[in-house]
Amino acid sequence: RSGGLYPQRTVIRDIADTFIGNLAPGATIDFIDIPRFANAVQLAQTIVDLGSTPINYMKVMGFLKSNKMISGVRAKDMESGKEYELNGKVVINATGIFTDTILKMDNPAAKEIITMSQGVHLIFDKEFLPGDSAIMVPHTADGRVLFAVPWHNKVVVGTTETPVKEAILEPCAFEEEIDFILNHAAKYLTKDPTRKDVLSVFAGIRPLVNLGGSKETAAISRDHFLLVSECGLITITGGKWTTYRKMAEDTIDQAVLIAGLEERQSITKNMRIHGWLKNIDASEALHYYGSDAIAIKKLTESQPSLGDKLHERLPFIKAEVTWAVREEMARTVEDVLARRTRALLLDAKASMEMAPETAKLIAVELDYDRDWENEQVSAYKELAKNYLPA
Ligand SMILES: Cc1cc2nc3c(=O)[nH]c(=O)nc-3n(C[C@H](O)[C@H](O)[C@H](O)COP(=O)(O)OP(=O)(O)OC[C@H]3O[C@@H](n4cnc5c(N)ncnc54)[C@H](O)[C@@H]3O)c2cc1C
Repeated sequence: RSGGLYPQRTVIRDIADTFIGNLAPGATIDFIDIPRFANAVQLAQTIVDLGSTPINYMKVMGFLKSNKMISGVRAKDMESGKEYELNGKVVINATGIFTDTILKMDNPAAKEIITMSQGVHLIFDKEFLPGDSAIMVPHTADGRVLFAVPWHNKVVVGTTETPVKEAILEPCAFEEEIDFILNHAAKYLTKDPTRKDVLSVFAGIRPLVNLGGSKETAAISRDHFLLVSECGLITITGGKWTTYRKMAEDTIDQAVLIAGLEERQSITKNMRIHGWLKNIDASEALHYYGSDAIAIKKLTESQPSLGDKLHERLPFIKAEVTWAVREEMARTVEDVLARRTRALLLDAKASMEMAPETAKLIAVELDYDRDWENEQVSAYKELAKNYLPA
């Protein structure tokens, strides 16, 4: 698809939603036409290309109001601790599982609308599912959905639907979730996976809009939900990766009305994402950067040591760290290893071994000292331990 922001795990969930009940257990689906390079960073780069300014590590602490209407936010720079007052014609709350916290900053009596459901994925070596096809199991013995998808030369197997009460930044997989996936995946993979075979386990929390008070999270709609408060705060929540363009269009159409901007036809639906290329050759190194791959290769020409791999088990090279700091707003070792490259998600142990060199490369770019490097490496290793099963 043009634009390319369709991570494979996203599409498979859509297929689950569409085909549950129609696919035979163990049916395989061909995924060869789905680009693998894109992620949220490329969306942020797209808005930079369009003249906007994204800011990371800036936490909203409260709202500014004028005549009882929202006129901006109070925000804290999480690196320096400095607070700012930022004025705006319109403020949009798009904070996922933290939606209710922000709604209560606007109105402490606001009704909670989010129910949270945790999902877990396990990563295995590709030998557990050779080839390019994914497996979808619409109904496991206990009625859940299971899938196994080839991903960056590994296999991602998921997922679970565990109700959780607290919105936290670093959710951890429950033992029961890991056991569920291991037990059921064994029926469909070429070898029975054990805990020792898990290269990484990661959990995420889905923000589900629960206006009807349902207790069964799998039954709650995955549709998105747009809300405008009495003070003019726009909230967009629920939805899915696969519907982000429609979510954006609906939200901006509403924002135009509230801010009194000139009404225009939305161009979101067909907008090309930063890095767009007509043809992506997935066998090419750095293909997941799209058109930016050329600039990253140039870095290695001007400084050949940046062409070295950071770890023998993963494809990432040193130039990707430099690039992430210069062009993708990466500030920490965790940013680079978890959210710019996918090292943490693909092989947690290898990523821990990459941390010292990664810290050194970031420190060169941002002019940090040895103490900063050491603190970063310790903090990263502490975090990455949670991505290995006990
Ligand atoms: C396990 C799992 C599997 C999924 N599978 C699929 C799938 O197969 N297909 C699909 O389409 N979707 C899937 N989803 C859903 C999809 O990932 C989410 O819909 C999407 O990530 C939500 O994006 P968002 O931007 O709304 O929220 P988020 O990605 O959660 O972003 C919210 C942002 O708000 C920031 N924030 C919070 N509070 C503040 C504050 N006070 N100040 C500043 N910033 C703040 C947070 O740091 C965060 O960056 C899945 C989700 C999970 C957890």
